[in-house]
Order: sequence, then structure tokens, then C-alpha cells
Amino acid sequence: MAVISELRCTLCNHAYQPGEVKYFCPECGQVGTLDVLYDYKALRDHLDRDALTHNREPSMWRYRELLPVAPETPVPPLQVGYTPLLAAPRVAAALGLGQVWVKDDGQNPTASLKDRASTMVVARAIENNIRIVSTASTGNAAAALSGICASVPDMRAIIFVPVTAPEAKIAQLLVYGATVLLVEATYDTAFDLCYELSQSEGWYCRNTGINPFTTEGKKTVAYEIAEQLGWQVPDVVVVSVGDGSIIGGVHKGFWELHQLGWIERIPRLIGVQASGSSALVYAWENNLPAQAMQPRPAETIADSISAGLPRDRAKALRAVRQSGGALVAVEDDAILDAIPRLARASGVFAEPAAAAVYAGAQRAVQSKWIAPDERVVLLVTGNGLKDVRAAQRSVSGGIRVPPDAEIIRQLLDHG
Ligand SMILES: [Zn+2]
Repeated sequence: MAVISELRCTLCNHAYQPGEVKYFCPECGQVGTLDVLYDYKALRDHLDRDALTHNREPSMWRYRELLPVAPETPVPPLQVGYTPLLAAPRVAAALGLGQVWVKDDGQNPTASLKDRASTMVVARAIENNIRIVSTASTGNAAAALSGICASVPDMRAIIFVPVTAPEAKIAQLLVYGATVLLVEATYDTAFDLCYELSQSEGWYCRNTGINPFTTEGKKTVAYEIAEQLGWQVPDVVVVSVGDGSIIGGVHKGFWELHQLGWIERIPRLIGVQASGSSALVYAWENNLPAQAMQPRPAETIADSISAGLPRDRAKALRAVRQSGGALVAVEDDAILDAIPRLARASGVFAEPAAAAVYAGAQRAVQSKWIAPDERVVLLVTGNGLKDVRAAQRSVSGGIRVPPDAEIIRQLLDHG
């Protein structure tokens, strides 16, 4: 396992000893998310890239030497990670690019990339003999935590959601047997309550932007992209952005591989937000630091990336700025339009937030943030079956026919 050397605040740079703090920087408050850091020189001296990945299990645990979980700790058994990286020449042609790959993280057990973070957090809970993990979420993070906890004996998930959350989203949590608390208040209040009760009751809090180990799970998607491309990293990775924790994780993964000398450079990260929920685009365009960001309206069909004041804003802005990337906003119409376009050109059915990367790549090519000859990865973070209602809005058709083979033949012959 990778031995943690320190937890460092992304804002004030203060370094804490492992065990000294549990969640965020006490000096900066919740905006001061922490980086979990290791002795990269020692790792570089002792680890061999090809030996490490040779004959390993097809999951995120193939990189166990780079993850903060002891070898003897049993990890949740659901197979998370090592999702396909599909060459997508027809997507490339449609976007006016030479080479595009689609990283299909909707193939994770609960159908989103959030399984990586939840698996890591639950493994950390097992290691520390904690049997209750909590989170406040209405979406994929809650589903992921519920599913991963269900795969582990005697591990309980407690989920805080606002009472207004859609029933369809809550159903997945209940199916997995999570304790679902429908809070008669807003999401932000549910978030604060979850943190407060976790502290007083000794639960492990998975809240986005609070728990630094979520990044340690999410970073594995960057390791996989690098490995699956033979360690020749792409020029650009396009990532949808709500709270900003996924793009922060992707950046951490590539940054670590670069520290180890396993890749030559860090790809430019292009974050895509819905224009109705674009606090980070605004901050990036106006050169605001994370501390200066204020809540902005958040209204979009892509509910997985709806965030008025993104919780992981510090890591997200750093990811884009340090990688030389960009943040772009796309309209809901473009997001809906992207669902069938991506599916028909690649076979990958994405939920609205995930399909946004297709629309965002289109925008980034138009704005010359991506050059035509660059190698580009679109990160698809969630499966389209997560939100069938949105998919229904993105398509029309179906041909009504009588039960008569001859008539159907004629109809199809005439297109
Ligand atoms: Zn700090």
C-alpha cells in the first residue's frame, strides 16, 4: 500500500500528519479540501510500472500499491473500475477530431464513476473498524455508497436526502437496503446534518468535498486511461463538472503518474458544466480563487452536475488551471441532443451529465481549446439508464404498424 505522508490543504498549503485531521482543513473550513499525499520519491524508487499492472485483477485495486489501504484489509467485493476505453472513430469524425476514445464508467456496478470513491471510502471504513458510512446526496454518490455497503457484510449506509428528492432516485438506495432519511429541508441542510451526526455518532462521512479519500478512489480512472493507452497519455480529457470532485480526482491521478515518472506530461483537462449551473465556468472566466466564489443559480436537466456552490471547487479550479485546460458551458438542449449522438456513434448510452462531455467537446473544438489533430478522451461518468426520462426527451420516433408482415416490408423498403 501507499503510506500516507501528509494531508495537505489545497488552499493554504498547511500540511497535517495522518490522523491529525479527518476531513477538511480546520484553518480554511470546508472549502479547504485536503490532498492525501505519499512519499513519491520512495514510490518511484520501489515501484515498477509494468510489473505493478501485469496480471492484476480487472478493477481499481490493480493499483493497490498507489492506494491508501493495507494489503490485509478486505476491500468491497463488487468489481469497480477497469472500465472499457473504447476507440470511437465515428465520434471523432462527428467532432472534427482525429482520435477520440470514450471511457465508459457507466459500466461500474451501480452505473456511475462514483463507485470508485465509495469503494475507497468503504475500504477505509473497514480498515478503521467503522461499520456505518453516511452521505448526503440525491444522486449517484448515494446510489454508489448504498450499493458498495450492501456488498459488505455488516456495513450500513445512512443517506440524507431532502424530502423533495425524486422518488426514482431514492428507489435505488432503498433497493440496496440503505437507511434513507428524508430531511424536511434543503440539500445544504441535509449535507450539514449528515456531517454533524457523523461527527457525534462516529460514522464515517463520505460527503463530497469533505472526505479527502473520495479523490483517492476517483484518481484511479486516470491511471486506467494512461495504462489503457500504453502510458501514452491523451492530449485532452473532457470531464463533466458539478461539485468538481471528479475532475479533481482525474487531475490527481495524472499528477501522481507524472510524479512517478510513468507518463511524460499531464493531459489538459477540459471541464464541462451545464450553462444553468456554471459557477466554476464563471470563476474560471473571471479568474476568481475558490475562496471568493459565491453561490449561483443551479438549474439543469443534468442533475448529476447541478451545484450552486461546488463543494470541490478548490480542486476543480486547480485541475483546470494547472493542466492548462479550460471550463466550458453547454445548454441543456445541447446536452439532450448529445445523448443519442454519442450513443449512435459509439454504442455508449450516457446520462445527461455524462453526455455533456460530447457537447462540451464540440464547444471546445469550436473555441479552439482542442485542435483537430489532438488525441482526446471523453469521460462518460454515468449510464443513461440512470435517467430514462431525460433520454425519452432526447429522441422521438417509433413506427406504428399493423400486425402484417407484407405492410411492414413495404414500409421499411420505402425508408
Ligand atoms: Zn487550509
